[in-house]
Amino acid sequence: MTVTAEKKARILALYDEHRRKNGRQLPPVSGVEVRPNVRRLASVGAPREGGRVLNLSSAVVRAGEPAWQVLAPALAGDGASLQRLRELTRDLVHENRRTVGRRNGQGPGPEVPPPPRCQGTPGQRSFLRLLVDCLRHSSGYGELFPSRLHLRISRRMTRALGSSSVRGGWRRITVAERLFRPGLEDILWETVKHEVAHLLDEVTRDDGRSSHGPTWRQWARRLGARPERLCTPAEVTRIELARRGSTVSNSPPSASSLREEACQEEALQLQGRISKCRHPGSGLHYPELVQEWLKRNRADPPGSS
Ligand SMILES: [Zn+2]
Repeated sequence: MTVTAEKKARILALYDEHRRKNGRQLPPVSGVEVRPNVRRLASVGAPREGGRVLNLSSAVVRAGEPAWQVLAPALAGDGASLQRLRELTRDLVHENRRTVGRRNGQGPGPEVPPPPRCQGTPGQRSFLRLLVDCLRHSSGYGELFPSRLHLRISRRMTRALGSSSVRGGWRRITVAERLFRPGLEDILWETVKHEVAHLLDEVTRDDGRSSHGPTWRQWARRLGARPERLCTPAEVTRIELARRGSTVSNSPPSASSLREEACQEEALQLQGRISKCRHPGSGLHYPELVQEWLKRNRADPPGSS
């Protein structure tokens, strides 16, 4: 979206005015960047050469002066201003969301983002891919899975176990790297089902959103996930123990490291087809349902030799 310099100047002037009147609680910004965001209406960017920029959803720009007036107070944490900003931009955000949705259904659109940085090993990536593939092929809802879906493993994700989001026309599921430990496979599997439930909730709802409300809970049940927002205290303890390197295994002993190396090589060679990799990385074991699915669908099931 092209935004005139005049509009940008007016937005910046209102922002500066708020800073002057309110003891500079917001950092100074030197520019405005506009994207068709559907999740975040506005944010102040990190400091960089030339100063911080104000990142705005195109919905905020298009909503005009009334929205620009409440922008800075909303960023400063004023609840009423944020509420007003949401009301003023709601329809425009929906419009953006529909545009993103359309891009989802087509071939490469004009806005193809680079693949997200995945911090997992090839073995971990193929393990995650296979869990999602199993849900895609055995849940009965495979046709609802978007063709443009990125799977990502994050080491920085420490407060959550997973997330489902939209980036430039791509759906993205992120899972915390700390779950890829022997003994935590059940929690990882639960997290994948939880996030895929969000994904299917998002693509089937008119507003394209997903909370932990009734529609998400319905998807969670369909996928065999616990229809609950948080993991259990016992799971939190096991994740923490695994992080500290203690043994938490409630599954059979891990696969040999030789197999793991072979697997990683295979994964690298196959590139786009890494889900064919039969032996998971890091000594991980497939959840029972995934093992069953593999046995039914592969002549050479995992573990057979
Ligand atoms: Zn959730």
